[in-house]
Amino acid sequence: MKNYDVVIIGAGASGLMCALAAGQRGRKVLVLEHTERMGNKILISGGGSCNFTNLYLKSEHYISGNPHFCKSALSRFSQHNFISLAEKHNISYQQRQLGQLFCNGNAVEILNLLLEECRLSDVKIQNRSTIKKIEKDNYFTVMTNSKNYVTESLVIATGGLSMPTIGATGFGYEVAGQFGLKVLSRQPGLVPLTFSNNDLENFSDLSGISADAAVSCNGQSFRDSILFTHRGVSGPVILQISNYWQPGDEVIINLLPDVDLAKTIKQWQKERPKTELKNLIGELITRRVANRWLELWYYNKPVNQYKEKEINEVADIFHAWHIRPSGTEGYRVAEVTRGGVDTNELSSKTFEARKMKGLYFIGEVVDVTGWLGGYNLQWAWSSGFCAGQFV
Ligand SMILES: Cc1cc2nc3c(=O)[nH]c(=O)nc-3n(C[C@H](O)[C@H](O)[C@H](O)COP(=O)(O)OP(=O)(O)OC[C@H]3O[C@@H](n4cnc5c(N)ncnc54)[C@H](O)[C@@H]3O)c2cc1C
Repeated sequence: MKNYDVVIIGAGASGLMCALAAGQRGRKVLVLEHTERMGNKILISGGGSCNFTNLYLKSEHYISGNPHFCKSALSRFSQHNFISLAEKHNISYQQRQLGQLFCNGNAVEILNLLLEECRLSDVKIQNRSTIKKIEKDNYFTVMTNSKNYVTESLVIATGGLSMPTIGATGFGYEVAGQFGLKVLSRQPGLVPLTFSNNDLENFSDLSGISADAAVSCNGQSFRDSILFTHRGVSGPVILQISNYWQPGDEVIINLLPDVDLAKTIKQWQKERPKTELKNLIGELITRRVANRWLELWYYNKPVNQYKEKEINEVADIFHAWHIRPSGTEGYRVAEVTRGGVDTNELSSKTFEARKMKGLYFIGEVVDVTGWLGGYNLQWAWSSGFCAGQFV
């Protein structure tokens, strides 16, 4: 005999959203969470202010083996639906750059919203639940360290692999494997990139410097700030491009995206001919970067001594700095996991597995990864809410 209509594994963003939506339909819902606390990632998201969605959300801002898969859920539960929910709970928020919406207060307000809606719908949430085994007969039986639960619908909302210290596990992929669903290879996403040995020697002492930059890789470009670290490069623009980077790929960085450096040098030749080039470029970008670039790739001299060919070469080293990262900083710090349960295995309407009636996958465990800027939480809300209509 079943004792729940719906058991959801994972009390994160997507699991809680699915729970409240199913609860509102009158379904008897249990959420099982293995850590002490619910919504750990929500609490640390957006630097503690939770970038909970993005006003300018587009499906093109998601990466997936099937770029169409996310469209239906994102339109059925859009950023505007989540904004209405936040407003219903009197959460005050602000728009930052590129349509990113953050709480004015603390991320805990978003978690409290979800927990309150779950409470109103009589959703039961059980923390410190270790799942030992899942069996399927007519119903699913979920065996935990304390009890066994029998349910008609089983929702896997266990997220990705990033930040294992706050509860991330590969459990969702194991369940997919158990029921014969294909899981695509996974990689850390929205993650700092590490320098090759040579670059490490040349640039690690620039750690702490940040600059505006345009960065491209594999045909995708972003513009935002870059941060030099002891081991490589980070900052929003690097996190964004990391979603498109594959091991071995080159990343091209324009450190002066607003300037036509060749043209500017010619201007300087007329206006400030005796000034050394490194000092002039040091007015456009941090002096230490200007010095280092000229030390490594060119020679510094008064600006009037540069010939046309040299001017173009100098412009190139600032406009197209090529690096071939040795890797990423890994799941320890990655904000998301790229790859995951193959979307071809799931219905984009219900999130139910095509091969296993009653089994659903939502949120980050699915092969849908968003850009930085509120896209990943919106995916969790959209997929969770939509699955919640069918479980
Ligand atoms: C530092 C950081 C900052 C971020 N900031 C933002 C942001 O501002 N905006 C944004 O859009 N996205 C942000 N993200 C990404 C976003 O938090 C995630 O994409 C989103 O939380 C995914 O939701 P989810 O429900 O799929 O997984 P999660 O929210 O990770 O929830 C999964 C839950 O399942 C539980 N779980 C795992 N394994 C088991 C198991 N075996 N048994 C039981 N429970 C289990 C976990 O403990 C967790 O509670 C950030 C991520 C990080 C790491």
